[in-house]
Amino acid sequence: MQALVYHGAHDVRVDHVPDPILQEPDDIILRVTATAICGSDLHLYRGKVPGMKQGDILGHEFMGVVEEVGPKVTALRRGDRVVVPFTISCGDCFFCRRTLFAACENTNTDGRGALLNAKGIRPGAGMFGYTHPYGGYAGGQAEYVRVPKANVGPIKIPDVLSDEHVLFLSDILPTGYQAVLQAHVGQGSSVAIFGAGPVGCMAAACARLLGCEHILMVDDQAYRLAFAQQTYGVVPINFAEIDDPAQFILDATAQRGVDVSIDAVGFEAKGSALETLLTNLKLEGSSGHALRQAIASTRRGGVLSVPGVYAGFIHGFLFGDAFEKGLTFCMGQTHVQQHMPTLLAHIEAGRLHPELLISHRLPLSAAAEGYRMFERKEDFCRKVILTPDLL
Ligand code: NAD
Ligand code: ZN
Ligand code: ZN
Repeated sequence: MQALVYHGAHDVRVDHVPDPILQEPDDIILRVTATAICGSDLHLYRGKVPGMKQGDILGHEFMGVVEEVGPKVTALRRGDRVVVPFTISCGDCFFCRRTLFAACENTNTDGRGALLNAKGIRPGAGMFGYTHPYGGYAGGQAEYVRVPKANVGPIKIPDVLSDEHVLFLSDILPTGYQAVLQAHVGQGSSVAIFGAGPVGCMAAACARLLGCEHILMVDDQAYRLAFAQQTYGVVPINFAEIDDPAQFILDATAQRGVDVSIDAVGFEAKGSALETLLTNLKLEGSSGHALRQAIASTRRGGVLSVPGVYAGFIHGFLFGDAFEKGLTFCMGQTHVQQHMPTLLAHIEAGRLHPELLISHRLPLSAAAEGYRMFERKEDFCRKVILTPDLL
């Protein structure tokens, strides 16, 4: 089959690789009909996450049709059309029973937990196409993919909904939703979202869904901000023009700050030349620029919700400011399975339109071009979806 294979930083190629086969009795083999490139894939693409090996197949946002089922698969049949969550979860461990699917203890036997201060804790859930520390599972930017724990993850999709309507249930829609839900965003909330990428946009869409009308959004990409302004009614703050977005947000909120800040940027945040240099030299785990801005923008007693991915330590974290303001933090990988049914119902009812985000549709064979465009933000790229080439 054809699959998008990692060869090194900024070097991904569509190669011919062996077809996946069933390995466990509760596996399925999925024929992929649509897959997307995520901001998380960009961290891998830039070579910023340790644990990728040459030959690894990327991709954790995908859907398709069940081609083969293992003997212990009871939830699905051949021919079912499903979206697959990026988290691989057993459904039966301490964490899965609490619906904390990203913390599953049984699906990542290769990895390590809490890298810097592990004290022997188990790693969280395995993930598709996301390095060996996350389990080394082959990803779904491919014609076929093996899906383990198939009784727990994939969600069946009614025929009336197209792939484009539902594909983002695999990651970015639940990620945006969890970011606002865990911060208790609702009617009357004020929210500042850092990052107008796909995750920031899905957070804005979900904040609107939950009744929030006052959303400020920070980025330096005018075209992304313009899209979010038109589509989700956000107030755009372009940090290419406004030096200190946090000050702008304070001025817009009677010098108090917003109820909730959402950091949908993560560890490669722009804005601090020093931290960018230190992270490139691996002397710093993450750039803390967006986090510091988010802390400064949040009101006393408010919530800072962090879907953006962070790694290692940050020297300039301003924990004292966070303490002094009495902030609540929530963060982490998304418990995708927890949110999929609710969000599918919202899509079916026409209350969410995640497909509006799609800016580019490419055949799988052009995946490397898709990565390049998404990374460089060329051609007003917001979100790329790939479909296996028509024969
Ligand atoms: P993206 O790279 O397309 O978007 C990030 C946006 O942040 C870009 O538009 C960029 O211009 C902007 N940005 C950079 N520095 C900034 C700053 N200092 N202030 C404000 N904006 C800034 O990526 P995405 O797909 O939207 O993903 C965003 C983050 O969410 C990534 O870190 C990704 O790994 C993470 N993510 C986490 C989960 C999860 O389970 N928690 C799931 C999906 C993605
Ligand atoms: Zn993703
Ligand atoms: Zn589990």
